[in-house]
Amino acid sequence: MQNQIHVLSVPIDVVTMTEAVQKVLTLVGTPGLHMVATANAEMVMMAQENQKLLEVLQKADLVVPDGAGVLWAAEQQGESFPERVTGCDLLHHLLQAAKDNHIKVYCLGGAEGVVKQALENATAELGDLPVVGYHSGYFTEEEEVDILKDIERSGAQLVFVAFGVPKQEFWIRERLAHLDGVVAMGVGGSFDVMAGMLKRAPLWMQRNRLEWLYRLLLQPKRIIRMLALPKFMWAVWRHKQ
Ligand code: UDP
Repeated sequence: MQNQIHVLSVPIDVVTMTEAVQKVLTLVGTPGLHMVATANAEMVMMAQENQKLLEVLQKADLVVPDGAGVLWAAEQQGESFPERVTGCDLLHHLLQAAKDNHIKVYCLGGAEGVVKQALENATAELGDLPVVGYHSGYFTEEEEVDILKDIERSGAQLVFVAFGVPKQEFWIRERLAHLDGVVAMGVGGSFDVMAGMLKRAPLWMQRNRLEWLYRLLLQPKRIIRMLALPKFMWAVWRHKQ
């Protein structure tokens, strides 16, 4: 059994980036649908009020420590994660691993044109990728039926879904449950970053756990969502008492 740290009842795997990629590779091809989630303070707080999200995360096959907040929370509990494994970086590493291991990839989500641009940029950087299909994240119910058929027909073994939390996690559990030997991962705004629409914080900010601040400066509208961070710190502190 893999080692986990519980942050406010959300089990988060104690893994490095290399171990996370390895785990995904071992899941590909094994029976059932497997889900990977990327935990940050906002997601953990959402799961406190959303029982369905909490259960989905508790049943996920891999939950990586995405945010600086969860690393901080572990330290408050006298535990520690080896490193941050961000969704954006994990997506990048998994695309490389998919290429090396001939694993078929499907990418779903983002505004019109974003995922196409993201994949063009990734191909320019990593070389030809085994991408068997992609679609934007805005579609009708009729189009959704075709997208699901397309995913199934494509034989994709790795499906990245970018609808934001918790929509992507619920969609994976509800719409992809019938797939076999497939790993699906919610990647939030990662296609926006890959497409060059959204910049990652400079490395010094990432290392100093200030990525949230950079994101806030770029997207001030996120202020309401980011109020989850102080609430999270308070909840972790209270949990410790
Ligand atoms: N999105 C989408 N379909 C939807 C809702 C959202 O494709 O119905 C996309 C949106 O364009 C954006 C991503 O989902 O690219 C959500 O990004 P966000 O940064 O909000 O994700 P989170 O912070 O939840 O990881």
